Amino acid sequence: MSAQKKKLLIEQARCKSCGLCITFCRQHALSIGTELNQQGYAYVVVNPEECTLCNNCRVVCPDVGISVVEVDEIMEQGEINV
Ligand code: SF4
Ligand code: SF4
Repeated sequence: MSAQKKKLLIEQARCKSCGLCITFCRQHALSIGTELNQQGYAYVVVNPEECTLCNNCRVVCPDVGISVVEVDEIMEQGEINV
């Protein structure tokens, strides 16, 4: 059995750049990025060095765009922004 590591996953396509997650992140690990998603919103990015996986941002995101996943799962999805 391989040891899995958890990471914060932000689904950029769901992000509407509302900034709520940034407000609730005590670690200041989140910020609005410079890239736009398909809907034209500048989506949030995470600094994994600062993120403690506290889950605050995941709970408050109205668009269910944030989750905490195993790294293996991220690799399967080919997801970016971890
Ligand atoms: S709360 Fe969700 S929709 Fe709002 S900025 Fe954060 S990730 Fe984007
Ligand atoms: S999980 Fe917690 S520490 Fe990490 S980005 Fe979200 S609110 Fe910030």
